[in-house]
Amino acid sequence: MADPTHPTTPSAGLAGLGVSQGRAAGPVVRMAPPPVLPGPRQVADLAAEAAMVVKALESVTADLRQRAATAARAARGDGNAAPAGDDDAAGTSAAAEILDALAMIADDPMLREDAEAAVRGGLDAPHALDAAFTHHRDTLAALGGYLAERAADLDDLKHRAIAACLGLPMPGIPAPGHPYVLVADDLSPADTAGLGTDVVALVTEKGGPTSHTAILARGRGLPAVVACAGITALADGTVISVDGKTGQIGVGLTDEAVAELRRNDREERDRLAKSSGPGRTADDHPVKLLLNIGSAADLRPGAEGVGLFRTEFLFLDRKQAPSFEEQVTAYAEVFARAEMVVVRTLDAGTDKPLPFLGLPPEPNPALGIRGLRVDRVLPDVLDTQLDAIAEAARATGADAWVMAPMVTTPAEAAAFARRARARGLTRVGAMVEVPAAALLADRLLTEVDFLSIGTNDLSQYTFAADRQHPGLADLLDPWQPALLKLIASCAEAGRAAGKPVGVCGEAAGDPQLAPVLVGLGVTSLSMAAVCVPSVREELSQHTLEDCRKLAARSR
Ligand code: PEP
Ligand code: MG
Repeated sequence: MADPTHPTTPSAGLAGLGVSQGRAAGPVVRMAPPPVLPGPRQVADLAAEAAMVVKALESVTADLRQRAATAARAARGDGNAAPAGDDDAAGTSAAAEILDALAMIADDPMLREDAEAAVRGGLDAPHALDAAFTHHRDTLAALGGYLAERAADLDDLKHRAIAACLGLPMPGIPAPGHPYVLVADDLSPADTAGLGTDVVALVTEKGGPTSHTAILARGRGLPAVVACAGITALADGTVISVDGKTGQIGVGLTDEAVAELRRNDREERDRLAKSSGPGRTADDHPVKLLLNIGSAADLRPGAEGVGLFRTEFLFLDRKQAPSFEEQVTAYAEVFARAEMVVVRTLDAGTDKPLPFLGLPPEPNPALGIRGLRVDRVLPDVLDTQLDAIAEAARATGADAWVMAPMVTTPAEAAAFARRARARGLTRVGAMVEVPAAALLADRLLTEVDFLSIGTNDLSQYTFAADRQHPGLADLLDPWQPALLKLIASCAEAGRAAGKPVGVCGEAAGDPQLAPVLVGLGVTSLSMAAVCVPSVREELSQHTLEDCRKLAARSR
């Protein structure tokens, strides 16, 4: 029977790459880029120009107040706001408070007077707004502490005021005060990490299947589609459905179709949520099913531990380095709640810049100072982090494993292992993300206790294909035989050494691929919580011998 939520006529739908499973529907709200200031304009009528400034600030204030009121109504579950679910109510009322606070800043008489004074000094309205906001921002930043952290809010408000003045759409993460599908040209990991609970799905025009934005969406269980040509051309308010598995976008849905889609999605999630127990093939061969997390908030019951704790996700928007104490607290929070945890030391660089590291821009960042290589220029960062991991492990008595990202040579693995063991950490591993490391997996394993294959980067570097590139998904496909051959040789090295070799890239969460990876000899699969039930179910339907046959056929 035709699926009413996904009309098949070309005009009724769009398609991209499904990167985070689940289905959702809601009105589109687009995220516009910050406005570009046009060249300065000669001011002929000072009073008219000053009126433009005031009107822009009033319109930003009114917009924020209206959205705060809508968010507050949604939290109470009344009025015309689209109802938030119970889980969303707290987030929506917090959103209302934030929007109210921003409205107060935009309505600040001192700000308005500064902008009017700038007009009297000869600036046109957009440049006067730019000057006034920049002045207030710099004043806040100079005060340091909490106030300095609010400086970014002034940048956001400045962009909004200039956009209002120029008649452009409002930039920044929208906060319409009701559940919506976020549509953007592209999103940074920091944008995605900061999304409110009112976002029911996200769709971007750009982006690759294993980009960190996709990974963060998956971590939150948020249906997401990337590389969706034409999505930003849809008008705000258009109701669409998003299938994060197939990448299909349905456009122009009826209310009944939306209700049915939500019902089906809930039923599917409920069905999968009932699956439990450790990972096993049909003939009881154990395969540990672990979680990929970015913080304690991503922990869910039902897995056998954490196979990848991406610690850099804790600090994406930080301008100052996290202290030792702060790190101990963040790691201990996870250690206290999981059976075993593989902590990955900071993996900064390329699409995950960590501003507090102050690394200079590079012409080719994916091949530059990233992951473990940051240690070449800032050795204290790894020392402090290892100290904090060791302290958190001691304090909680956790089964803490530690591994480094972007290990390239056995010598790097040995140096990392020495430093980790010197702090009492006994389970030390290396990620295999670079073909050179995969080729020498046996020698890596003489230095470390386990390997964890990061298929996202291993694909990127094996196929020379940018993982964020929307047009290279075929090369980044984890079914590529060259990738599977590298995985097989790592697993074989693990078998020979009697040491575990897991997969923690996004490939591990693909239920169809899971038996193949097990057949290649992989001992654990680590994935976003949302993927665990379907991988568990699929594995339970194949014997180890079936898995080996599937693996042999796939290479
Ligand atoms: C990987 O590269 O597969 C991996 C797990 O690390 P990240 O995606 O964080 O780069
Ligand atoms: Mg990686």
